Amino acid sequence: MNAKPLNKCPICMNKLVYANLMQFTVEHELKKNGEPAIKSKKSDVCPMEQGYIYCTNKRCGFATDCDLKVTDAAYASIHIFQKDGAFFYYKK
Ligand SMILES: [Zn+2]
Repeated sequence: MNAKPLNKCPICMNKLVYANLMQFTVEHELKKNGEPAIKSKKSDVCPMEQGYIYCTNKRCGFATDCDLKVTDAAYASIHIFQKDGAFFYYKK
C-alpha cells in the first residue's frame, strides 16, 4: 500500500473540502399550556465526528460519503482513510 496525503483531488488536482457535520440542539421551554415556547436557545455546537470530502471543481464530481467511501463508482479504485487527524488515499 502506497498511501499519499489527500491534499488535492486525486482525479483533477483541484482543491478538496472536508465538510465536517456538526450537531446542535434547539431548546424550547414548555409553556403553561404545554406548548413549546417560541423563544429558544441553542445548546453547544458539537462535531458529530462525521464528515465527507468533495472536490471544489464542479465538473469533476469527486466526493466521498460519510464513511469516506468514494461515491462515484468510476473512482472506486481510490480508497481514503483518516489517520492522526489527516486524510490519506491509496489506489488499489
Ligand atoms: Zn476533482
